[in-house]
This record gives sequence, C-alpha cells and structure tokens, in this order.
Amino acid sequence: MSKQKSKVEIEQFLQIVLNNIPMRVFLKDTHSKFVGSNQIFLEDLGIKTLDGLVGKSDYDFIADTQECEHFIKDDQEVMHSGLAKIGIEEPQSVNGAETRWLRTNKVPLTDKGGQVIGLLGTYEDITEQVKYREEIEQQALIDSLTQLSNRRHLQNCITSFNGECAGLLFIDLDYFKVVNDSLGHSVGDALLQQVAERINAIIPDEKGLVARLGGDEFSIFVPLVTESEYKLIMADFAQQIVDTLVESFIIDSHILNVSASIGIAFIQNGHLNHSQGFREADIAMYFAKENGRNNYQFYNDEMREQAERKNAMQRCMHHAIANNEFHLVYQPQYNEASELIGAEALLRWQSEELGFVPPDEFISIAEQTGLIHSLGQWVFNTALDALLDWNQHIALSEEFKLAVNVSSVQFRSSSVVSEFKSAIESRGLNANNVQIEITESLFIEDKDVAVRSMLKLQQLGMSIAIDDFGTGYSSLSYLANLPIDKLKIDRSFVENLDSSMVNRKLVDTLINMSKNLHMEVIAEGVETSEERDELIGLGCSQFQGYLFSRPVKSDVFIATILKG
Ligand code: C2E
Ligand code: CA
Ligand code: CA
Repeated sequence: MSKQKSKVEIEQFLQIVLNNIPMRVFLKDTHSKFVGSNQIFLEDLGIKTLDGLVGKSDYDFIADTQECEHFIKDDQEVMHSGLAKIGIEEPQSVNGAETRWLRTNKVPLTDKGGQVIGLLGTYEDITEQVKYREEIEQQALIDSLTQLSNRRHLQNCITSFNGECAGLLFIDLDYFKVVNDSLGHSVGDALLQQVAERINAIIPDEKGLVARLGGDEFSIFVPLVTESEYKLIMADFAQQIVDTLVESFIIDSHILNVSASIGIAFIQNGHLNHSQGFREADIAMYFAKENGRNNYQFYNDEMREQAERKNAMQRCMHHAIANNEFHLVYQPQYNEASELIGAEALLRWQSEELGFVPPDEFISIAEQTGLIHSLGQWVFNTALDALLDWNQHIALSEEFKLAVNVSSVQFRSSSVVSEFKSAIESRGLNANNVQIEITESLFIEDKDVAVRSMLKLQQLGMSIAIDDFGTGYSSLSYLANLPIDKLKIDRSFVENLDSSMVNRKLVDTLINMSKNLHMEVIAEGVETSEERDELIGLGCSQFQGYLFSRPVKSDVFIATILKG
C-alpha cells in the first residue's frame, strides 16, 4: 500500500518538475501528433488544457504551412534515423501571435525492443537573443563571413532604386548542406567565402550588387536600362555563375563539388516591391532545383500557379488520411491462358478541396514532406484488408499476388520490414500473397540497406517486383545481383512495340535475360490484343492493362473479377 502511495507521490513530483522546468516540453507520436506536454508549452500555443492539444499536429496551431512541413519533416527524420537533433534554432509563427525564435531539441523515444514510438521535444524561447543578434548584424551592411553586402543592404538598394527596371538573381548552392554536415562548419564557411569570391569576380561593381542573404543563399541585383536587355544580360550572368561553380573547390585538402540552382525575376520599378521580386526569384530557383539543379530558370506566372498548387496539395494532404479522402483501386493481372494471377493496388486521392489529384502528382510531394511514411503504411494496411476480404469470398491460391507500390523513401525507413510483418501477421494472412513493387531509384543511395530489407521481406514470404523497368538508368546485369522476383516492363515500351524496332529489340532482350536470371516478367499498360499477342510472341506471359480491366474498387473487384 505504502509502496503504491509513494509511486503516486513520485508521479506527482515528476509532474511538478515538468511544469516548473523553464523549458517547453512536448511529446509526439510517430505520426507527429501531440500526445502530451508541460504547462508552459500549452500557454505558448494559447490553450488551457491537454485536451486541446492531444491528437492535434503543428498544423492546428501554426499559421505557416511551410513551417509545419519543416517541423514535421524534422520529426520524421529524427524518428526514422533514431538520431537526436540538438540545438536547432528556428522561427515559429503560432496562429495570431508574433513570430518567435526557438532553440529546439528533438530526441527519439523507443520502447523496450528499440522500436521508435515517438519523440520528446524541448525548446527555449530565444527570441530576445536573436533580436539582439540581428540588431547588431543589421547595424552593418556587410556580411561578416564573405564581405559581400548583406540582405539588408540589398533590400535597401532595391527599395531606393529609381531606374526603369532591374533583374534579380537568386542563387542557392546545391549540396552545401552535405558539406556542412559531413565536414563541419569551418569547412562550410571557407567554401562560402570561396563561392562569394567567384561570384563577385563575375559581376563588376558598376553592373550589379552581389549579396549573401544567409546560409548558402546569394542574390544579385542588376539595374537595367530597358526591359529588352533583361533576358540576355541575366542569362549571361547566370550561365557564368553556373560555369564557375561547377569547378571543384579545394579546402583543407578536401576536393569539394557544389553547383548552383538559380532563379531570375524581373523588377519593374513601381510595379513590384522587393519582397515580391524575391518571392518570384525564389520560385524560379525551386524550379531550377527540380529541373535537376546546376541550371537557371526565369520566373513566369505558370511557375507561381504550380507552386501554389503544390502548397495547396501539401496543406490538404495532411488532413487527407483522417478525412478518408484516400482509397485504393485494384487492377487485375493475368497469364497467357487468361487466368487471374494477381492484382496491383493503386492509390487514389479525391481531395475535398482540390478534387481528384493523380498519384503521379501527389506521391512526390508526400515523399518530400515525409508524409509518405504514414500514407504508405495506410496503403499497405488497406490493401491487406482487401486481401482478407477477397479471401473470404474465394479461396486465393498461394500463387495469387497482391502487389503494393512502396516508395523508395518509405522503403529506406528502418521500420518498414517490421511494420509490414506485423500488418500481415495481425490479419492472419499468408505473406506469399503479398508482392512489393519498388523502383530502381531505391538503389541510388544506401543500396546495401535496401537489399537487406528486400532479403528480409523475401524470408517472410513476400516477393519483390521492380516497377517501371527500363525507364531508369540501371542495366539488367546490375539487377542480376539483387534479390528480385519480377520485372515489370514499363508501359512506354509496350505502347510502341509495333512502331519501334528499338523497343522491340529491347523488350526481347529483357525477356530473354530475365528468364536466364529466373526472374518473372510482366508487361504493364497492355491496351490491345495486338500488343498482348506481340508480347506473347516475345516470350512474355504475364499482363496487366486496360485490355483486361481498368483499376476498380475492391467490391467491384470481388463481383466482376474474382467471381466474374
Ligand atoms: P505504376 O506503379 O507504374 O502504376 C501503373 C499505372 O498505369 C497506373 O496509373 C495505372 O492506372 C496505369 N495503367 C494501367 N493499365 C494501363 C493501360 O493499359 N494504359 C494506360 N495508359 N495506363 C494504364 P496510376 O494509378 O495513375 O498510378 C501512377 C503511378 O503512381 C504509379 O505508377 C505509381 O508509381 C504511383 N502510385 C500509385 N499508387 C501508389 C501507391 O499506393 N504508393 C506509391 N508509392 N505509389 C503509387
Ligand atoms: Ca506499380
Ligand atoms: Ca509501373
């Protein structure tokens, strides 16, 4: 009895400690949803009791969605890597309140078995310190690290500019973070100094003003005489910068390679203020990044529309699972004798706000924001529920495969194997009925980690298919050494089979080689019986495509495909 009492006392004591410690403390689950916090944390968010917090995410409290993305991405990184992040300085803009600066620590929480079950976060409010630091810095107009102008000086120049028009270049280094993280800040700083020198050497003082905005971001303001010279002059500067930065840097005997992504915007005096010019150059810079980095892009309005759509998708996607906006459809697969051999689960998003959004568009965004982990898990569980349902209507043979697409980003997570395993076991399903579709992009980085997970999945009974085969860069001989059960020949090869001799030859070689390697081959996107016959002629014996059926919902699949 007394033992119990002392346990209660200890808990009360811990509660008191938690509420009096001069730090904000919060706990999140693996989906970045809050599960608890101390009192000052609640006060910061303007809420009174834990009930207002539990089950909610940063999205419910923070006005700026990009900031939320950033916080949640950080959470996911910590939980997926199992490594703490300590002393991150970042701004936070709680709905309705002034932006604050925080110094945050995030530590992964694990259960006894070492499985990550959530995250412990703490932070201090360092707004005053940051304000003081900024004030000191802003008194000067020079960036102390590179001796270039600083952001403030650049903004002053743009605001007080009284010429006709100007061009604004926004430069972001590619892979700078890698240098900083792997070789340390002093090497990073030295690199920024050399980059600054190279850029500065290209722009004579009388032609424009070069500034470092912060981190690895630089900007150049170029006053122009007429609009007609805008593209020519800016393209010339941008190309010179791209060219000069691809050449290696040597720092402390390290040979470093960075490149630059550059966005360019036009400023018409009186029409645009500087923040609009910055935003447009920034949007164009993102397009340069997405366009494979190491290039420059001129801003246009279409880019803005696309960027806005992307933002809207990011915002909407976060509530989409809870709102039941996702569902799966299933496309059957057949053999040469037109017998059903399996199906592929395909994800659909019917967004309340945006309408139907195709997976090609939203999967990459889910990958960038880290949402792919919970979304992919939802897909896997939902597909298994369908499999369970189908099994009750018709006894599926062990040969029947339900294929689930798994993004490379999700596949690299350390918990993927155990999550799949427990999802199958908890439903009493046979793992032989489950196939995982991955793409060659998985092998670009950390190939060994990926292969280890593939082997574990195979040991459990699942099989592995390589999706979109032929569109990547890897050769078949490269794949020969990997634990792969099946290749899916991409739709683009099937489409042009009769018109393109090259494709025919390619598909022919592919089928023959995969047979030698004891891999199965399935052709996807088969739309006509001519295509099917042609494929049969080449030795392919598994098919998927509109010729047989479009992807359909589970109940239709049962009624027309399993029973039909
Ligand atoms: P994928 O894995 O290559 O999927 C095949 C795509 O081809 C599907 O498009 C399917 O509807 C379409 N298709 C099937 N037969 C035919 C045909 O005969 N003709 C034509 N023209 N198209 C056909 P969908 O559903 O739009 O999916 C596009 C891509 O989105 C998928 O390509 C896959 O990469 C990704 N995706 C879809 N669902 C998921 C998912 O649950 N997880 C992940 N990570 N990715 C998914
Ligand atoms: Ca697929
Ligand atoms: Ca495919």
